[in-house]
Amino acid sequence: MAEAVIFLGPPGAGKGTQAKRLASEMGFKQLSTGDILRSHVARGTELGRLAKPIMDAGKLVPDELILGLIGEELSSMPDPRVIFDGFPRTLAQAEALDKLLRERKIRLLGVLLVTAPEDELVRRLLGRALEEGRSDDNEETIRARMAEYRQKTQPLVDYYQKTGSLKQINGLGKVDEVYQAIQEALGVKA
Ligand code: AMP
Repeated sequence: MAEAVIFLGPPGAGKGTQAKRLASEMGFKQLSTGDILRSHVARGTELGRLAKPIMDAGKLVPDELILGLIGEELSSMPDPRVIFDGFPRTLAQAEALDKLLRERKIRLLGVLLVTAPEDELVRRLLGRALEEGRSDDNEETIRARMAEYRQKTQPLVDYYQKTGSLKQINGLGKVDEVYQAIQEALGVKA
């Protein structure tokens, strides 16, 4: 059956790590719009050249470009089982995704809101800057990404709360503890 899970939360909350593990254990495909964009940047595609300065400034890439990527990915999957990681990030993206899920008859298993206090998020992102060398993990860009999250993505918390899909996950614990909380919230714990 076609099914989807959405990971929502500020930068540094651990969405990517958790989404990767959940995807591999549930046999789902992880769709990280950030990873897809970084791969375009690395390959120097037209989209990559457009997106890079926006990403380096910590701003959100325009909805039409993101929705194009998601539409392309989903259309290549006959029976989608996907974990959306870092998408949707704006109300327009959330509404477009709702439409896609309806049209493709994809059941939304839950929206996982992974959060942690902002000083912890910034600490983690600065640590990741040293480990992975992501060009948008410097202090100035991190601040801009947090502001974009508060302004444009946080309203999605209300949006999904109203539909009853939202599940709050404390992202502060150890990776294993957070993962366990996610499995319990989705009711997929063995
Ligand atoms: P992430 O790896 O999810 O933190 O994304 C890195 C950057 O890619 C973000 O700061 C944005 O510039 C861009 N990006 C990723 N996903 C989206 C999205 N759904 N909408 C707009 N921009 C995005």
